[in-house]
Amino acid sequence: HELQQRQVVIIGAGPSGAIAGALLKRKGHDVLILERQRFPRFSIGESLLSHCLDFIEEAGMLEAVQAAGFQVKHGAAFGCDERYTEFDFRDKFTAGHGSTFQVQRATFDKLLADQAELQGVEIRYEEELIAADFAGARPQLQVRRADGSEYAIDCAFVLDASGYGRVLPRLLDLEAPSCFPVRRAVFTHIEDRIDDPRFDREKILITTHPELRDVWYWTIPFSNGRCSLGVVAAAERYEGRPVDLDACLKEFVGEAPNLRRILKNAVWDTPARLIDGYSANVKALHGPGFALLGNAAEFLDPVFSSGVTIAMRSSSMAAALLHRQLGGETVDWEAEFAVLLKRGVDTFRTYVEGWYDGSFQDVIYYEKAQPEIRRMVCSILAGYAWDQNNPYVAESRRRLGVLAQICAPA
Ligand code: FAD
Repeated sequence: HELQQRQVVIIGAGPSGAIAGALLKRKGHDVLILERQRFPRFSIGESLLSHCLDFIEEAGMLEAVQAAGFQVKHGAAFGCDERYTEFDFRDKFTAGHGSTFQVQRATFDKLLADQAELQGVEIRYEEELIAADFAGARPQLQVRRADGSEYAIDCAFVLDASGYGRVLPRLLDLEAPSCFPVRRAVFTHIEDRIDDPRFDREKILITTHPELRDVWYWTIPFSNGRCSLGVVAAAERYEGRPVDLDACLKEFVGEAPNLRRILKNAVWDTPARLIDGYSANVKALHGPGFALLGNAAEFLDPVFSSGVTIAMRSSSMAAALLHRQLGGETVDWEAEFAVLLKRGVDTFRTYVEGWYDGSFQDVIYYEKAQPEIRRMVCSILAGYAWDQNNPYVAESRRRLGVLAQICAPA
C-alpha cells in the first residue's frame, strides 16, 4: 500500500496538462503529471489559433515551438464550390499574435511535454489514474502502472487534463450532454502534391459541401508536403456511403469541386480513421480539490479549430488561481474560472451554431462585407473570443443575427 505525497497532480500530458504543469512549476509548486500513454502518440487537432501562442509564451515554450519547423499559419480560408474567401489573422481587431502553426500533434504534444519536463515538471508516462476520492480533506488518487502494479497519491489539488479520457467527469458523475448533435469525422494524412497557385499553405482551408451545408472538410497543410484532410458530417449523412473509411472519405472529397481540383495528384498513403461523439459537456468545471481543463470539460465542435486554444486558456486561468489558493488565499472558482472561461466558449458556441444553421456561412462568404466587421470576425477566428471590446464577442448572438440578415442570399 504505497502512498506518495504530492502538491499538485495533473491527469494527462496533452497541451492543457503540459501548459498547466509548466505554469505551476514556474510559480514554484511541486507538480506531477500522470500520462497513461507513451509519447509521441497520435492526437487530432492540428490547426492552432493565434491566441494559443499567448499561453505557450506564458509557459516559456514559444522559442522551442518556433524553432521546431512547424508549418506557419496566418489565417483561415473558406471555400464552397467556386466561392472563396479568406481571413488573415495579422489583420484583426484584437491585438495579439497574428500568426500561429499547423502541427503534427504527436510531435507538438511531445515537444510541450518535454519542455515542461525541462522546467522541472515530473511526468510519469504509462501511468493511469484509475480512481479518485475527494471526500476527505485532501484528494486521494489511485494510479496503475504499465506493469499492473498500483499506488496511491495524497495531494493538495488535482487538475484533470485527460482530454477525451474525461477521467474526473466519469468518476465523479459530472458528465452532461452536449448541445450539439452527434457528428462524425473521417480523416487521414496525405502526401498532398498540391500545385494549385491559389492554394495557400499558410492557411487552413475549410470547405463547405456544395449541396449539404452542414457537411464540411478541413485541409490542414503541414511543412513537409503533407496535409491533414478530414470530413465532418452528422451521423445520418454517412448512411448509404462506403463502410470502408478511405473509400468513404474519397467519395465525400469527390463531391467538393474545389477539393477534387487541388487534391488531384494527392497520394493517399495512410489509412483513414474515424472519431465521433466528441462533443461533450459537464455539470461543473470544478469542485473541492479539483478543476477540469481543456477537453476534459466541454468540447464544442472542431470547425473553428478552437479546441487547443480553449484548453490552454483554461490551463492558464486555473494555474493562476491555484497559485493563489496554494498561497493561502480563498479563491472563487465559479466566478473566477468557470464563468470567465465559459464566456469565450459561449462566443465560439454562437458561431458554431451559426455555421451549422448556415447564417454564419452567409456572413463568411458575403462579398460586400465591411472591412472593420471582417476584422472583428477575424479576431474570433484567431481565437480572441474573450475580448469584450469586440462587439462580436460582447454581443455575439445579437450581432450575428443582424449581420446574417444583411448577408443572407436574396
Ligand atoms: P488531449 O490532447 O486529448 O490530452 C489528454 C491526455 O490525457 C492524453 O495524452 C491521454 O493519454 C491522457 N489521459 C487520458 N486518460 C488518462 C488517465 N486515466 N490517466 C492518465 N492520463 C490519461 N483543436 C484545435 O485546436 N485545432 C484543430 O484543428 C482541431 N481539430 C479537431 C478535429 C476533430 C475531429 C476533433 C474531434 C477535435 C479537434 N480539435 C482541434 C480539438 C483537440 O483535439 C482538443 O481540443 C485538444 O486535443 C485538447 O487537448 P487536451 O490537452 O485537453 O487533451
